[in-house]
Amino acid sequence: MAEFTIKDLKKIYQSLSPLPTNKRCAYCSAMAVDKEHVLPKSWLNSLISMQSGGVEVEIPEMLIVPACRECNSLASSLVFKNFIEKRKYIAKRIRTRYRRLIRGKDWTNEEMNELSGRLKEYIYYSMQIKKLVEQRLEALDGKLEFNIDYRYE
Ligand SMILES: [Zn+2]
Repeated sequence: MAEFTIKDLKKIYQSLSPLPTNKRCAYCSAMAVDKEHVLPKSWLNSLISMQSGGVEVEIPEMLIVPACRECNSLASSLVFKNFIEKRKYIAKRIRTRYRRLIRGKDWTNEEMNELSGRLKEYIYYSMQIKKLVEQRLEALDGKLEFNIDYRYE
């Protein structure tokens, strides 16, 4: 995978930085901007059309949770056994996507002060994103306790 550009890093940072909202992503705890169908809508729709065609199928309850844009898009059309399986899958995808940043060195303030210009900016955003991604992975790995509204009312 190609390295992120500064433009990419700024875009990612913006999308990951928390805004004041009480909705947290049910998977990673980042700010939630989307409603996510735990079971994909396309799959539910196909069950409904089977049922209306006379096939006996049980339609599961539509579970909708708040989600951040990235978690929502990573697994939107896939069907999982349960919420935990889906969260594991998302964690794997996030680890792969941000592998380089996660493995990146943690620069000290002193080291940062010796840098300037685009290199400093690049490292600054890389480190900010690394911190956010590490927090999200704790939640995705089920290690972070956080109060969330699982149901999107
Ligand atoms: Zn998320």
